[in-house]
Amino acid sequence: MFKGILIEKDDAGYRATLRDIEESQLPEGDVTVNVQYSTLNYKDGLAITGKGPVVRKFPLVPGIDLVGTVESSSHEGIAVGDAVVLNGWGVGEGHWGGLAQKARLKGEWLVPLPKAFTPKQAMAIGTAGYTAMLCVLALERHGVTPDKGEILVTGANGGVGSVAVTLLAKLGYTVVASTGRPQEADYLKSLGAADVIDRAQFSAAGRPLAKERWAGAVDTVGSHTLANVCASTRYRGVVTACGLAQGMDFPATVAPFILRGVTLAGVDSVMCPRADRLEAWARLARDLDVGKLDLITHEIALSDAIPAAAELLDGKIRGRVVVDVNR
Ligand code: NDP
Repeated sequence: MFKGILIEKDDAGYRATLRDIEESQLPEGDVTVNVQYSTLNYKDGLAITGKGPVVRKFPLVPGIDLVGTVESSSHEGIAVGDAVVLNGWGVGEGHWGGLAQKARLKGEWLVPLPKAFTPKQAMAIGTAGYTAMLCVLALERHGVTPDKGEILVTGANGGVGSVAVTLLAKLGYTVVASTGRPQEADYLKSLGAADVIDRAQFSAAGRPLAKERWAGAVDTVGSHTLANVCASTRYRGVVTACGLAQGMDFPATVAPFILRGVTLAGVDSVMCPRADRLEAWARLARDLDVGKLDLITHEIALSDAIPAAAELLDGKIRGRVVVDVNR
């Protein structure tokens, strides 16, 4: 038996509970992992509360991230005792995930724990941090260098936003953090934001084109915010879109793209190919100030994860939440 969160949906309704789970219930896979830490991402919040259609199979253990040591493996190249990290691949959505003491997974999904990070630090980064790095890589690939001008990060107090601010500032970019929590301005400045602005200016329908300001952007919010960010991006600027915290819609016009040559670059972490994941983790090891990770992160016990999921969706949690699944 091991402890884990189980999501069920039946005549009694949709519910997540912490319970003892039989090892025989674990799904198929060629690697079994003793999980040390998992995390809470926005998607885990949706899965645990049932507020979004994230879970595709019931019952299911949520948790799109995990770090742990290999207990058994028949996968070539992965041995008992290896420290491994998992992000995405539909784990915590259609395959049992990390919010439990054990997980059974496909070896091809796993990446080695980078030597630069402890298991807890790897989860402080988690899918949110690795996605932030994918956004930075996309900006770089499209030629956005620090000398080009200001970079906007929306949802800056969230997990992706906090890591994006930290990474971009360390790389020498001038970062403007957009948030609905101006009381956290000192926190965002301690991560490296040069300026903190109120997200309200992006929240409602805007004009097709606005005053040009951003050389680049990391948008975690979607909806009107993404439309307004594109409208205020400078000639040939680049907007990376990875999130939908405001909404899935994109009520925009083509004006920024056809009149200012703005590039909208989509970022997906879930099915991202292994080579790009390894690059992102290698760059995190090189470019992330681990001292700042402590500022971004707080740790909770597995037993606290269910209430914390609701708080995350209510925008009450700052930065990243690491879950110690063994307490
Ligand atoms: P968090 O909940 O940690 O952060 C989301 C932040 O968005 C909040 O902290 C808040 O920031 C802001 N926000 C929330 N509601 C609204 C709103 N109505 N209008 C404007 N801003 C809002 O989530 P994560 O950082 O884990 O994820 C952020 C987004 O990125 C999510 O939509 C998630 O699904 C997506 N994501 C996508 C990935 C991919 O592969 N494409 C991978 C990881 C995440 P503040 O208080 O500063 O305003």
